[in-house]
Amino acid sequence: MRPTGRLHLGHLLGTLRTWRDLQATHECFFFVADWHALTTDYDRTEGLAANVVEMVTDWLASGIDPARATIFVQSSVPQHAELHLLLSMITPLGWLERVPTYKETQQQLVDRDLSTYGFLGYPVLQAADILMYRAAKVPVGADQVPHVELTREIARRFNHVFGAVFPEPQALLAPSPRIPGLDGRKMSKSYNNAVFLSDSAADVKAKLSRMMTDPRRARRRDPGDPDDCPAYTLHRIYCTPEELDYTARGCRTAEIGCLECKLIMIARAEAELGPIRERRAVFAARPDDVRDVIAQGTRRAQTIAEETMATVRTLVGLGGWS
Ligand code: SF4
Repeated sequence: MRPTGRLHLGHLLGTLRTWRDLQATHECFFFVADWHALTTDYDRTEGLAANVVEMVTDWLASGIDPARATIFVQSSVPQHAELHLLLSMITPLGWLERVPTYKETQQQLVDRDLSTYGFLGYPVLQAADILMYRAAKVPVGADQVPHVELTREIARRFNHVFGAVFPEPQALLAPSPRIPGLDGRKMSKSYNNAVFLSDSAADVKAKLSRMMTDPRRARRRDPGDPDDCPAYTLHRIYCTPEELDYTARGCRTAEIGCLECKLIMIARAEAELGPIRERRAVFAARPDDVRDVIAQGTRRAQTIAEETMATVRTLVGLGGWS
């Protein structure tokens, strides 16, 4: 995950819940992709270090457990850069130019300088991130599947040229619901429409109470349709079947108002967010503990990365000079 700072409900429901489940069944590596942040924002690095701590604080508060998963920061494991360089030697330019997000992101982020070597090559860096740990599976959203496919192609080519070292990883398509923000657009810090994991209970309630609903319910007596209501996406995630029946019927018949409807969902959401907020406050008061977690995980990642690179260097015919 790129170091974006404080995380929000979209991150929790779209990613962190999956990570939490995976760490119970798999050996997991979760890392802060700070070099990846540079591929689009190389001239906006002022908040990077603070964002790393904020974000890992949210991970820990959400139940990512350093006793079960390795948590580290990419740039503190320089072997990723070395493997990126070696993989870049065997990756044809055409493979990178064909990656769907390459052109899409250039079209979307018109205010950034994306005509760089680093931006074109970031899927190779991703491949290095994955192959370094000889990962079997990579939890991704649908838009990232081509990157995992590219990683497989790069692994295949490396194994063919130098010798079999890398398993070909599979995409692990986790359910990743699109979480709408308060204005109905995708929840995003940059849209200013997010409910943060660090928000107080009062703020969560106030924000979700004014979340966009079906515009047909302009007046209390106007019936609406939950299928056209952004807030109801959260009902579907949080509410019981009985609550869903009650609110959907109440919406369609105008027997309940939007606030009553939302308060049912807010109570359920708060049951998850409350304990996260409490844990977050504990970690936020002890940032050195968070730094220790990162340092320990980073050391573990470095050890594994060095093992991989020792094999890779031998296969490629490098090293052994010092
Ligand atoms: Fe949405 Fe509920 Fe209002 Fe219907 S009653 S528009 S489902 S908030």
